[in-house]
Amino acid sequence: MEIVLIGIIGLCIGSFLNVVIIRVPKGQNISLPASHCPMCKHPLKWYHNIPLLSWIFLGGKCAFCKKKISIQYPIVEILTTFIFVLVTLKTDSLLKAAIIASLFTMLLALSLIDLKYKAVPDNISIPALFISVFVQDFLISLNDALLLAGAFALLRILVSWIIKKEAMGEADIIIAGIIGATVGVELGLAAIYISAIIALPVFLIVSKKGYELPFIPFLAFGLFITWTFTPQIHQVLDMIYG
Ligand SMILES: [Zn+2]
Repeated sequence: MEIVLIGIIGLCIGSFLNVVIIRVPKGQNISLPASHCPMCKHPLKWYHNIPLLSWIFLGGKCAFCKKKISIQYPIVEILTTFIFVLVTLKTDSLLKAAIIASLFTMLLALSLIDLKYKAVPDNISIPALFISVFVQDFLISLNDALLLAGAFALLRILVSWIIKKEAMGEADIIIAGIIGATVGVELGLAAIYISAIIALPVFLIVSKKGYELPFIPFLAFGLFITWTFTPQIHQVLDMIYG
């Protein structure tokens, strides 16, 4: 029963996350004005605003102007629900689950904003970094966050110097810090490696079309995979390094 409740909370937070993803990059207030259709600006009734269900019953169209409502809405709601349920099932305390689920939810928002706008707002990434140092023991997390963020910052200077243009964004350094804080340096490097392996084929496909690929969605996904499959990844690392 508890897990159904967690799922519903996840669904509602996913619904709120959609508002964040759309309004924060534009510098708009996230509570005012009240929910309205982005196309015809018509204010929504409460029953037009039920996470997931409204989108399904309205057939993905605005109840007033009948224009299509982006598939982003239900997808973000489903992903957030998935994050909340999975994290709760895999964590032994509700407080810890709340911290980790909030962190992954913020990373999901950052990933989608990065995909859409090619920029990442500090007012989400900095709070995410702040939350991440409470995932493990505070001092260990802080230490690992600094180590990985520092390594990324050095790498950025080096790569920028080699290719003679700005490589990686500052936001990538903050995300590296979050990765270190969440899973530690050793697994953090594994997470970055996994991100790179997933990003590479996608990069090869889209770079031909002149599309600039943001890296944060891959880093966030790599971290999520690493956190979810920590025992398995430990096994692989033990096999490689003995
Ligand atoms: Zn409308």
